[in-house]
Amino acid sequence: MPAGESAPERREASSEGLRPVALSELMSTMPLGMAVVDRELRFVEVSEALASLNGLPREAHLGRLMDEVMNPHSSLGDTARRVRRVLETGEPLDGVEIIHREPGMGVERTRVFRASYHPVRRDGEVIAACIYVEDLTERRRVEAQRDAGAARERAVREQALRETQEAVRARDEFLSVAAHELRTPLTSMRLHLQLLLRQVTGAQPALGQELAPRGQVLERQLSRLGSLVNTLLDVSRLAAGKLSLEPRELDLVQVVRQMVDAFSEEFARAGCELAVHVSGTLPGQWDPLRVEQVLVNLLSNAAKYGAGRPVEISLVGEGTVAVLAVKDHGIGISEDGMARLFGKFERAVSERHYGGLGLGLYITRQIVEAMGGSITVRSAQGQGSTFILRLPTQPRVPSVGIQAMVVGGRAK
Ligand code: ADP
Repeated sequence: MPAGESAPERREASSEGLRPVALSELMSTMPLGMAVVDRELRFVEVSEALASLNGLPREAHLGRLMDEVMNPHSSLGDTARRVRRVLETGEPLDGVEIIHREPGMGVERTRVFRASYHPVRRDGEVIAACIYVEDLTERRRVEAQRDAGAARERAVREQALRETQEAVRARDEFLSVAAHELRTPLTSMRLHLQLLLRQVTGAQPALGQELAPRGQVLERQLSRLGSLVNTLLDVSRLAAGKLSLEPRELDLVQVVRQMVDAFSEEFARAGCELAVHVSGTLPGQWDPLRVEQVLVNLLSNAAKYGAGRPVEISLVGEGTVAVLAVKDHGIGISEDGMARLFGKFERAVSERHYGGLGLGLYITRQIVEAMGGSITVRSAQGQGSTFILRLPTQPRVPSVGIQAMVVGGRAK
């Protein structure tokens, strides 16, 4: 510190030295569009940035009237009117958007500005107005490009969605037509097979006996084909929202016992020991064929995916809900598989190892939910699976009349 100079004095001197250059320096270097205009609408100060927006050097503004500098008939000319208003009212004007069309080489160039006008007061009197201008042209161009890009992407997505929906609709229509067409020859083949075997047995009993096992194989395969066709029909019905229920008084214990009996051979073939925990009666109102269809799906899956290990079936009543559990100790299901397996055509195994359409559980869930119930699964890969079915004993909506439907060979 030089001798004889105190700290406050030195600060005073340095800011004094800065004062005369600060405003003009600031105006010529700051990248913001800014100007000060006096009550006569003369430019007192203007930043280089705003001067270049007006297309003139800064010096060409200073001391000149706004109307001399800016074309009063252009969009920029409105600026003078706004400044006058601010000077008269003392009220600021904020965020005024100005769209300025500049004639260019052949094409008109549009520029977008946002301007704000604020009064400058001394002793309570409005002595000038300050103008702030922001050039939004580039930002708007980027936004417009982004919006156009987003709109294009949206259009592509919507087109893809429309095409997918159309493809799904065409597939469901095809399934429906194909399933109906396949039913007729199948029914006829089954009838003719039975007739043929009966005629052969009548004419040559020994030959009839010899052919009986082959006849049974044919019968089994035809009935398998029939149930595949019915599955396809159900899917197309579900897609069309035409699956209906015909509930009637049933004892679920009896139905479960009958189905377990019907499946005992299949479980034996699969090497599954069966443990059935059902007792007494469990009355309620259910559509018998739909309940059977659900049981067929769960039991055949247990035999297929739980082959060689025991299977346990239990049924209990919990208040107004019947709870059926089918537990196997087979291959189990991965977490990813569990999230998908109730979906249409969804499978959690490879086709090479296990055949199937991936429709059984989809249809099962649709039926169960139509009955007001639910189906859940507990499983882990390699740890077996337990499917739990919860069915209310009373139908959700009382059935009205008899509705036409075809399931598992049911008449129309
Ligand atoms: P499908 O058996 O014809 O493939 P489903 O709809 O009945 O069709 O079953 C869907 C998928 O769920 C099966 O492909 C299989 O991956 C899995 N799954 C069903 N039941 C079991 C089970 N008991 N154990 C293991 N996986 C099963």
